[in-house]
Amino acid sequence: MRYELMRPKQIREAIEKRTPVVLPLGVLEYHSEHLPVGMDTLAVVRCAELLEKEMDIVILPPFYYGSCSFAVEKPEGRGSVHVDSQALVPFARQLFMGLLRVGFRNIHTFVHHQSENFASGMPTDLAFRLASKQIIFEFLDQTKGEGWWGSNTMADYYTAHDSLDANPFNWIQNHPLMDDEILKAYPFDHAGEGETSLMMSLCPNEVDMGSYDNSKWYVESAARASKETGDRGVAMILKYMKRVLQG
Ligand SMILES: [Zn+2]
Repeated sequence: MRYELMRPKQIREAIEKRTPVVLPLGVLEYHSEHLPVGMDTLAVVRCAELLEKEMDIVILPPFYYGSCSFAVEKPEGRGSVHVDSQALVPFARQLFMGLLRVGFRNIHTFVHHQSENFASGMPTDLAFRLASKQIIFEFLDQTKGEGWWGSNTMADYYTAHDSLDANPFNWIQNHPLMDDEILKAYPFDHAGEGETSLMMSLCPNEVDMGSYDNSKWYVESAARASKETGDRGVAMILKYMKRVLQG
C-alpha cells in the first residue's frame, strides 16, 4: 500500500496489524551519463514495490533529498542535488515524530547511497539514524512521562524487551539496501556493474547504454552490466528485506 493512497480505516488497520512502514531514503546524484540521477533512491523504491507483491507493507513517499556530496562530480549540468545533513536532521525529526503520532511502531528506512559501510555510517543515513533515536526518547518522555525507563514496570527491559514488539528503540529502524551478506555476493559500486545491472532489472527504460561514457574509473565495470546480474541482486535484496521486515 502506498501511504498517500490509504484511507484512515486502512491506516488504523496497518497500525493494529503492525504492518511494516517503509521509507525509501536516498539522493539525487550524478551516476555518469547512462543512469538516471535518482538511481540510489529508485533502487529502494522499486525493490519495495516488488516486495509489496509478496507481503503487506506500507510504502511512504520516498525521500530523494539526502546528502549526495559532490565527491563524484560537480553538480553543474550533471544533476546532483546536495542537501547538507545538518538540514536533514530537523526534517527527519519532524517526520518521525509525525509517524509515531499517527500510531506507527514498525517504521523502517532503507538507503542505498554510500551504504557499503553502514555500521560506521554516512551523512544521509546518520542524520536519519540520529533523528530516529532522538525522537523515540522524546516521544516516550512525552507519552509515558520522564522516568519511564527507571520505573519498576520496566524491570524486564533487558529480557522481555529484547523482543521487536516491546523494545521502543525498535520502533524506527534504519537499514542499508544491501547487508554484508549481499555485499559479499554482489558488486557494490557507483554507476558501475552493480548499479547499472540493478537499474537494468528495476528501471530498464531509464538505462541508456548508448550514452555510456567510460572515461572515468568508476564506470569502467558498467560495460559488464546485465539484466541477469541485476535480477540476481534484486532477488537477494528482496529476501533480505523480507527477513528484516518480518523481524
Ligand atoms: Zn548509486
